[in-house]
Amino acid sequence: MARISINLKDGKAVKPSNIIVGIDLGTTNSLVAYTKDGETVTVKEHGGKSALVPSVVHFAADGSILVGDAAKEKLETEPQNTIYSVKRLLGKSYGDVESLEDYLGYQVIDDDDENTLVKIRVGDKFFTPIELSAEILKELKKRMEAELKATISRAVITVPAYFNDSQRQATRDAGKLAGLDVLRIVNEPTAASLAYGLNGQQSDVAQKIAVYDLGGGTFDISVLQIEDGIFEVLSTNGDTFLGGDDFDRVIVDYWMGKNNLTKADLTTNKSLSQALRLRAEEAKKALTYDLKFANDLDGIECRISRQQFQDLIMPLVQKTINCCRNALKDSELAENEIDHVIMVGGSTRVPLVQEMVSKFFGKQVNDSLNPDEVVAIGAAIQADVLAGTQKDVLLLDITPLSLGIETVGGLMDAIIPRNSKVPTRVGRNYTTSVDGQKNLKVAVFQGERDLVQDNRKLGEFILRDIPPMPAGIPKIEIQFILNADGILKVKAKELRSNVETSVEIKSSYGLSEEEMGKMLLDSIQNAEADMKIRSLLEARNEARNIILSVGKFLQQNETILSDDEKSRTIELNESLKKSVEGEDKDAINKAMADLNEYTAPLAHRALDVNIGEAMKGRKL
Ligand code: ADP
Ligand code: MG
Repeated sequence: MARISINLKDGKAVKPSNIIVGIDLGTTNSLVAYTKDGETVTVKEHGGKSALVPSVVHFAADGSILVGDAAKEKLETEPQNTIYSVKRLLGKSYGDVESLEDYLGYQVIDDDDENTLVKIRVGDKFFTPIELSAEILKELKKRMEAELKATISRAVITVPAYFNDSQRQATRDAGKLAGLDVLRIVNEPTAASLAYGLNGQQSDVAQKIAVYDLGGGTFDISVLQIEDGIFEVLSTNGDTFLGGDDFDRVIVDYWMGKNNLTKADLTTNKSLSQALRLRAEEAKKALTYDLKFANDLDGIECRISRQQFQDLIMPLVQKTINCCRNALKDSELAENEIDHVIMVGGSTRVPLVQEMVSKFFGKQVNDSLNPDEVVAIGAAIQADVLAGTQKDVLLLDITPLSLGIETVGGLMDAIIPRNSKVPTRVGRNYTTSVDGQKNLKVAVFQGERDLVQDNRKLGEFILRDIPPMPAGIPKIEIQFILNADGILKVKAKELRSNVETSVEIKSSYGLSEEEMGKMLLDSIQNAEADMKIRSLLEARNEARNIILSVGKFLQQNETILSDDEKSRTIELNESLKKSVEGEDKDAINKAMADLNEYTAPLAHRALDVNIGEAMKGRKL
């Protein structure tokens, strides 16, 4: 059956392309590549020179969205509405990112809850990192479709080797929301190796590869082994706050010193600060090829030699070398056991970096490919392999549909994502939502939709006799073990008491390939609507928890709070209750934020008083 799509803008029919694209969704820059007639190329903006799309999303007051270079221009002037480095937040809860707060110029919402994923506030709207990443992916998709003059729907997306299950799932969800069927998530270092043709075919013995990736804001070193075409990550190390941005910063600091400028001069003059930063980046890039840079800025001397630059960044580069040493130690390999060293990321163009890395490993590094592009190129090569061999192997060794369980509010939590290699085993931790809860129902579903009601139910069982504990305290591990025949074993275990139960299910019993295809298509067509419902249900769940705890808080601290404080808290709690009845997730999030903001200092004071009381009462 052939499908024809219509371009909604001009009504012309567009043909769907069978090309699968490769996407590098980076912290600083993202890009897309594809393979045609055996040649893999990155996609540039029409008539443009660079394939890089800065990973920046800007929200204008009128609700319009800018992505890429246009958004990057707003960074300094509208920091509140301009989101960068969103990859750092993907799949993370607030507890994980608290330390990032000073670093980010925009607002990340504090929910005081370890288990809730972060949200980003722009004016009165709230976004998840998934939605923001989807905007970047949509831009890449648009660029790709303009190039091919055809619609694309399938992609391979790369992630850092250290990404956990939740970060990988978030990346898949972002793809789905952008209208892409994400066939595989590939590790960035693996993709880089593929781009250099290192796919395990060259040698009968296992090859060891070190991938050194220095980007804009992050440094990763990964040690891989390939044998029989199978990549294994032996170790990873790095620094999540070290990259080319730091090189720019040391140059700015150097010029400030030379020109007697102070920090205050820059904080009061945003456009000067931005201009200096851009000039510093220009200098850094120029010094890759030249020995000197001089280009003054309105009376401010902006000059630096390569030697001076190298002296400034030496300690930073030395830090990356220390990470390499640690990575080798963890992989139990010596420097001379590494067969190939691959350079990835724009910052590896700096000559001092290349020198020090090749000195450390005692060998010439691989840097013949454009370091900005190797990851996307590798992803596109992997995508092409998938496209070519699909009919024969794809359905044999991978699971065709996601498997997961129902969580609060009827949401689907995919535990084994579709296209995972089988056999596989994945565990994830959950907890209870009610005080003293004794039983927990585990309902197992299959499918790609966000609400379990739209997926296929495979079975359910009850974990009984959990010892009574307050909500949120039990640690319940759910494990999915899927064997090569598609038999799924689901185990649930409360880790504090060791209560355990399990069930076995035939995962794709009675499901034809056609039905699977339909389930998949439905999920992509409904991705946006599903995400809306998911966000609403999640906001409601969160709000209900807050409403309960505010009730408890008021009861327990009757004597500590003033009448005004009590009535204002009740008032805010009531408007939160009201918002939960409605359908507007932003209104719920706003009401939660307002309540949180007002009660946080009260809670601190109550805590202080309660601790004081406890101390007074202590008898010796
Ligand atoms: P990420 O993987 O974090 O998205 P990239 O690999 O795109 O990042 O690297 C971006 C960084 O590379 C920026 O700091 C940029 O200034 C730097 N860079 C790009 N070209 C050069 C060059 N010629 N010399 C030095 N640094 C460069
Ligand atoms: Mg990168």
